[in-house]
Amino acid sequence: MTDQTRFLLSEADIPREWYNINADSPVPPAPVLHPQTREPVTPDFLSVIFPMEIILQEVSTERFIPIPDEVREIYKLWRPTPLIRAHRLEKALGTPAHIYYKNEGVSPVGSHKPNTAVAQAFYNKAAGVKALTTETGAGQWGSALSMACNFFDLDLEVYMVKVSYQQKPYRRMLMETFGAQVFASPTDRTQFGRSILAENPDSPGSLGIAISEAVEMAATSNGRKKYSLGSVLNHVLTHQTVIGEEALKQMDMAGEYPDVVIGCVGGGSNFAGIAYPFLRQNLREGQRTRLVAVEPQAAPSLTRGVYTFDYGDTAKMAPIVKMHTLGHDFVPPPIHAGGLRYHGMAPSLCALYDAGYLEAVAVPQKETFAAAVQFARTEGIIPAPESAHAIRAAIDEALDAREKGEKRVILFNLSGHGNFDMMAYQAYFSGQLENYTIPQEKLEQSLKDLPQVAVPG
Ligand SMILES: *Cc1c(COP(=O)(O)O)cnc(C)c1O
Repeated sequence: MTDQTRFLLSEADIPREWYNINADSPVPPAPVLHPQTREPVTPDFLSVIFPMEIILQEVSTERFIPIPDEVREIYKLWRPTPLIRAHRLEKALGTPAHIYYKNEGVSPVGSHKPNTAVAQAFYNKAAGVKALTTETGAGQWGSALSMACNFFDLDLEVYMVKVSYQQKPYRRMLMETFGAQVFASPTDRTQFGRSILAENPDSPGSLGIAISEAVEMAATSNGRKKYSLGSVLNHVLTHQTVIGEEALKQMDMAGEYPDVVIGCVGGGSNFAGIAYPFLRQNLREGQRTRLVAVEPQAAPSLTRGVYTFDYGDTAKMAPIVKMHTLGHDFVPPPIHAGGLRYHGMAPSLCALYDAGYLEAVAVPQKETFAAAVQFARTEGIIPAPESAHAIRAAIDEALDAREKGEKRVILFNLSGHGNFDMMAYQAYFSGQLENYTIPQEKLEQSLKDLPQVAVPG
């Protein structure tokens, strides 16, 4: 045991392979269905919006997928990321627990998202694609993909939820600095956007609407443009496993092994990124680490959603997948963790949660910001409101260990910094934040319109 604070790897330690949970998951995910036919999708359908290499990764059962040299070269700009022992937070909590965090906020755009953005831009470029389309809510995914497309000389159209476009001008300018075109969604550029505007010219937009617009633009471009998604799908989760692979080595440097690994979940990618390599150790090496996914009480897909087939987007254009869902029409309350407001969750993660290999907790917004502030004041980093959910759960674990007089080793993923989220902090300090619990009737309402499918669930 040391009193060391930072556990640092060198460039040579950047993983050479991503880890694919499909190889080891005892619960294979259900088939992906076509949104219109509701039959299993063919690669033909997917190839309209994704390049073949990405589709192959989506369905691959290889345990390890080599990381191309071109991608590793770019990873060197910020990877390996530091593992940090939160000595000062431990002290403030008076806990015998040891708290470690992996800091993905050190990437150039401030979150874990470039881990997959760079890979996706690479595979699209290699396939001869000229431009990508995507959606963004708060702007973190759009920022990551803007940087990646700029490195690979690809054009990028970002459909940004209108209310965020207006409220978060800095994220938009960041994307524009990298050369992306950013549109406030709903736009008049797509049929779906025009249909929304005809009904409601003042629509504030939603992630589901923006996804539909970005998919439509790619699907109607005759192969010139492809679509890129920042979470939920298996290839995205796979790309994020560089986080957990590095963390395994770094925990080893610290001479400890985590009893619990924690991450926040929006679509599930940063949590899977840190947790799946540790899950492999559970499944194959007999380790017994608890893996805890943390979601907001305002969008509780795992803890209160139904495990069933649902559309990935509001317009019912994206594939239907089996997941814990709040319903594709679910409009979450306006919490400040924009990245955690999705109605569904990654199918592989849902299958594992349903079968008991993962745990989930839902935390309220105000207590989450209290944890964020305690973390900022002890560790010196302003966390993203999304990441603060993982911090809340890590602090609760540490307090529980104190109560029980247990030495517990806690590892959480700090998925991003919150330097662009100061309005959210201001709202917290001025007492404007609310806790939201979704009334059961509202949940039942949004679950009324689930697709009827013929395949066995
Ligand atoms: C996008 C985002 C999330 C949520 O997405 P996941 O796919 O669940 O990881 C969490 N934290 C940050 C900082 C994000 O940018």
